[in-house]
Amino acid sequence: MAKKVVILGAGYAGLVCALELNKLATSQDAEIVLVNKHDYHQLITQLHEPAVGAKKQEDITVSLNSVLGSKPIKFIKDTVVSINKEQQSVELEHSTIAYDYLVVALGSETEFFGIPGLKEYSFTMKSVNQANRIREHIEKCFENYSKEKRDSMLTFVVGGAGFSGIELVGELADKLPELTAKYNVPKDKVKVFSVEAAPSIMPGFDPELVDFAKQSLEQRGVKFSIGTPVVQVEPGKVHLKGGDIIETDTMIWTGGVRGVQQVIDAGFETEPRGRAKVDEHMRALGHKNVWIIGDACFVLTPEGRPYPPTAQISTQMGANAAVNIYATMKHIKLEKFDPHLYGAVASLGRKEAVANLSPKFKPKGWVAYRIKDASKLRYLSTIGALFKK
Ligand code: NAD
Repeated sequence: MAKKVVILGAGYAGLVCALELNKLATSQDAEIVLVNKHDYHQLITQLHEPAVGAKKQEDITVSLNSVLGSKPIKFIKDTVVSINKEQQSVELEHSTIAYDYLVVALGSETEFFGIPGLKEYSFTMKSVNQANRIREHIEKCFENYSKEKRDSMLTFVVGGAGFSGIELVGELADKLPELTAKYNVPKDKVKVFSVEAAPSIMPGFDPELVDFAKQSLEQRGVKFSIGTPVVQVEPGKVHLKGGDIIETDTMIWTGGVRGVQQVIDAGFETEPRGRAKVDEHMRALGHKNVWIIGDACFVLTPEGRPYPPTAQISTQMGANAAVNIYATMKHIKLEKFDPHLYGAVASLGRKEAVANLSPKFKPKGWVAYRIKDASKLRYLSTIGALFKK
């Protein structure tokens, strides 16, 4: 009898897992069920674009119906409430579903580090809906400035200058001249702050590329506050360590990610930031029928550093889990997760990026930007959505 494989989440990891398993297993082997909160797949690596209005929701989402087509993958649009691993079932908002094999690919949540007021008074950018909220709010700030004339309405703070924060300030820096012209707002009133706790932006990234990114953004008006953690947020104010206060109506938090609560609540073994520990075949520790993949899990490289929670790692985890689910069904040898790393590319706005692709190939500027674009197209082609966009 076919085994029921339930895949939670149709992000990079979950969607690729469903598509790859469908290629390997026949309907006699597996009944594949994919659960997702929305009926679309989000290209979350591009969220900085709709967040400032550079792209629309439809530009960075792909309809799951169009990707799944007539493939024998059952799609359930619902939200995962909890996982009961003893009963092998998952409670969704509208039903309960049993499984033989479970794949948890629910992504990550924002880490607020317990900083007072941060969760309550800042925007986050983890989904298209959140990006849309940021865009609407920024437009409102410009729209209402002519009536209220508060400087804090035109001061935008991005907390955390990792890749997400830098990609966002880059996009914002490119968009602001358009908004100042549209709403007839004096240019010198508009301020963008990038606040970073570490001694450098993009900590750990190639120093030459970091310098290029910083200069490029400073030339477009971004002000950096580095080595100054956000310590408190209250309505209209962001407090930095050392006592500085930035008065702002817009605090966007990109200061880090953590694992998802459903994994912690289910009692899977997790590390301190809530990401599940998995074995070399991407199975939850102590569970031979549960795979936890993508940002929801924690895997160390052979050098002992955690793999970063990126789309390229997530898609490879999805493919590896599919192979190993199939191998488990067929009682054949499982495959070790051994990803190919393609390097990292961060966009700095609409025409520039920085890319660390190999020790000898570290393009910056327009070339790096085209590489980032190409990797998006390559991914869309992997999921069969290239011509659907
Ligand atoms: P991150 O954890 O990589 O960066 C968060 C940043 O916030 C860090 O630099 C950290 O020092 C800073 N920070 C933490 N606490 C702070 C505080 N109190 N005040 C000020 N700054 C503070 O998070 P991210 O940027 O969301 O990225 C998450 C993962 O996704 C990373 O692995 C990243 O590489 C990846 N990512 C990749 C891309 C890409 O490849 N283009 C884009 C976005 C994210």
